[in-house]
Amino acid sequence: MKNMKVKLFSKILVLLMVINLNAAGQTQDLVYIAKWFGNNSSAFSFSFDDGLKSHYNNVRPILNQFNFKGTFYLLPPYLTETEPTIWRYGTWQMFQTLAYEGHEIGSHTLNHFYLTGLTVGDTSTVNTIMYELFQSKKIIEQRVANKKCLTLAYPFADHNATVDSVAKLFYESARAVGIDANNFNLNENDFFSLKSYSVHFSLPRNTMDDDLDELYSFMDWTETSIDNGQWAIMMVHDVVPFSELGDLVAQGIYEPISTEWFTDYCSWLKNKSDSSKVWVATISDVTKYLRERQSANIDLISVTDSVIVFNITDNLSNEIYNLPLTCLIKVPENWNAVYISQNNLADTLFVFETDSGKFVQANITPDKGFVLLRSIIISSADLVFNVPSEFILRQNYPNPFNPSTKIEYVIPIGLKNIVTLKVYDMLGNEIATLVNEFKEPGRYEAEFNLEQLPGTKPASGIYFYRIQSGNFNQTRKMILLR
Ligand SMILES: [Zn+2]
Repeated sequence: MKNMKVKLFSKILVLLMVINLNAAGQTQDLVYIAKWFGNNSSAFSFSFDDGLKSHYNNVRPILNQFNFKGTFYLLPPYLTETEPTIWRYGTWQMFQTLAYEGHEIGSHTLNHFYLTGLTVGDTSTVNTIMYELFQSKKIIEQRVANKKCLTLAYPFADHNATVDSVAKLFYESARAVGIDANNFNLNENDFFSLKSYSVHFSLPRNTMDDDLDELYSFMDWTETSIDNGQWAIMMVHDVVPFSELGDLVAQGIYEPISTEWFTDYCSWLKNKSDSSKVWVATISDVTKYLRERQSANIDLISVTDSVIVFNITDNLSNEIYNLPLTCLIKVPENWNAVYISQNNLADTLFVFETDSGKFVQANITPDKGFVLLRSIIISSADLVFNVPSEFILRQNYPNPFNPSTKIEYVIPIGLKNIVTLKVYDMLGNEIATLVNEFKEPGRYEAEFNLEQLPGTKPASGIYFYRIQSGNFNQTRKMILLR
């Protein structure tokens, strides 16, 4: 399969003259990168401040129920190893679990100081901007393994040009406040003063009905962002069942939300996201998308009646910027279905018609190699067969194995999630992470090869492999015979 593709590519490259259309107009006519992932009309992020216990206990089940990923901003010194916790703050394990489930963990600094009141300092001098921003990121990355801490929330949204310049050293974007949503085209300063908005409840809040006005006005606010094709960021602190709300309000806690209110809002937002009106994603994923889109360079390698080959590159770090961009690709009038491939991934796509011609929509990761499209004749039965509708984790082969085995899995259509595939020993110790990235729907194969493992090689015996994405997880057994 792989060899065949390589041959196909080299044939095309040899036979066709490489034309590099640098004229932006021409390029954009054929390959257009959608403003938002999935060609959604707008974007939305949930952000939760301060690392609170209620984020794990009350927010997590609601977000997971709707398959939304949130961004959680932590203050590392306030987190404990186990219960009891410091006041309303959570434990490390709570946020490790959230990270494992695909939520983002960001930094809210160490001590929640007003940053504009501190000197720049350096990364080893306490009570300086450098120290607060660098050390919090470092601790979070140590505690939340395999995840980078990419975004920051300024405490009290307090920042200025000096604070921003330090934030730019360590983060990809930073959240401040502002009643408007963010535009899709952001300059470097905009990325470090992302606007976010929180719900402001008016008193009294004696019954759930008292909070209804705020629900409708927050829906209106979101709707405006959707209509304007913008990125709305919601800022949230405590979320507790309505029955516990009175206590927090009496203590003067900043704008707590009831789980009932939050569930109603999420359910409304889910409808919008299901109808492609809004892409609900973490702050780091939206940051990645916007930056990749803004720095993407599209090279048309070849365009004929039967084949289109192009390449998308950017000058960003591939370790961080690995999110696929949703592309609309104009195809010849006589194409009805398309075979598309990039690297080891291939898919079949339907062609759809618009006023300006025929197009296909595909998610393409920059810097992952040439994208090839060709016209295919395909029956609708084939297409249905080719589009998986449920998760599949297949038995590894060969099994038993030594030193290497392959594991095939299928990501169903409609799923936009981080996928992890890990290998464990009998005691539950993690042996290897085979996959830990955002995956598009499709069929994949992962390889577990002892020779690529650092350190002492595992002994013969039974091992487990586990796939996890959103609410789905499945575990299978395999045997190593050395
Ligand atoms: Zn805060």
